[in-house]
Amino acid sequence: MSETDVATLVDLDLALEAVEAVFMAMDAGEADAFPVVREPIGYQEALYGYKSGFDRNAMTLGVKVGGYWPRNGDRGLASHQSTVLLVAPETGQCNALVAGNHLTALRTAAAAASSIRHLAPAGARVLGILGAGHQASWQLEAALDIGAFTEVLAWNRRPERTQALEAIAERRGCSFRPVSLPELGEASDVIITITSSFAPLLEDVHVVGPTHIAAMGTDTEGKQELDPVLVARARCFAELPSQSARLGECQHAVGEGLMAESEIASLGGVIAERVPGRKASELTLFDGSGVGLQDLSLARAALERARVRGMGRRLDL
Ligand code: NAD
Repeated sequence: MSETDVATLVDLDLALEAVEAVFMAMDAGEADAFPVVREPIGYQEALYGYKSGFDRNAMTLGVKVGGYWPRNGDRGLASHQSTVLLVAPETGQCNALVAGNHLTALRTAAAAASSIRHLAPAGARVLGILGAGHQASWQLEAALDIGAFTEVLAWNRRPERTQALEAIAERRGCSFRPVSLPELGEASDVIITITSSFAPLLEDVHVVGPTHIAAMGTDTEGKQELDPVLVARARCFAELPSQSARLGECQHAVGEGLMAESEIASLGGVIAERVPGRKASELTLFDGSGVGLQDLSLARAALERARVRGMGRRLDL
């Protein structure tokens, strides 16, 4: 299935359904994410990797392969590239090859949107977003689909790059303002972080009130968007707590001994109503570091739709 096929077949509703199903399966011990491989290849400054897993509940097995090619902009290509390969759990044969770029963007937006659906404070109206790169627009669209926001506040290292976010906010009937980090932290009910930063941006003192933060940018050892004191103060949730403690935003607070991995709850548990969600005035944090099972789940859903609608191309391998 090509990128065009995927873009035609999947939408946020399907992505929410797919990621929430796999979050619950991971929480129930029915889906395993296998160790992630992410290595610099010493060529084109590329970081190559793959993420794989098996969901025994949905019978979804496969791998997402690709990574980060920072010089792709010169070729008119996005720097993140991926492809999903679905494998038949019964035989090990390849069932499908699915283009992964649109899938990745949508499943990442859906993960944050799911956290907003289950953890945002009641009556949330002001949405803050840190970052204005490729993924930020997807995060904003999905958050506006899920929440009743009326105002969007944005911060980016280069403020002149927030026009795309402004256009989305205006199209969706929200007011829009580029702001400083302290103002964003103080005024926002929900904050999405989606930068490639390697140092804390939002400080503990910036965030006031019963805010929900969806921290989506940190998906590798060393990346960081939040003050570890802020992370330790929040009640933390993740798709996969063990991964968050190692390579998500929680890695720093856990590494500095400010919190324990056992304090990170599973978002799947909240969705399944096994784990309590927000208590009224809390600060909550979703540490979304990205699990390959999300991609596999959405690729599988796209494949099922493609079969019904006669899309994609049949290949004999
Ligand atoms: P991008 O390159 O298009 O945009 C990067 C953004 O980060 C820009 O807003 C840029 O200004 C900002 N930025 C870069 N360095 C910074 C710094 N030192 N301080 C402050 N801001 C900085 O990338 P993207 O595709 O939008 O992805 C953003 C981040 O999200 C990346 O780190 C990516 O790996 C991550 N990501 C995570 C998931 C997940 O599942 N959690 C999925 C996709 C992308």
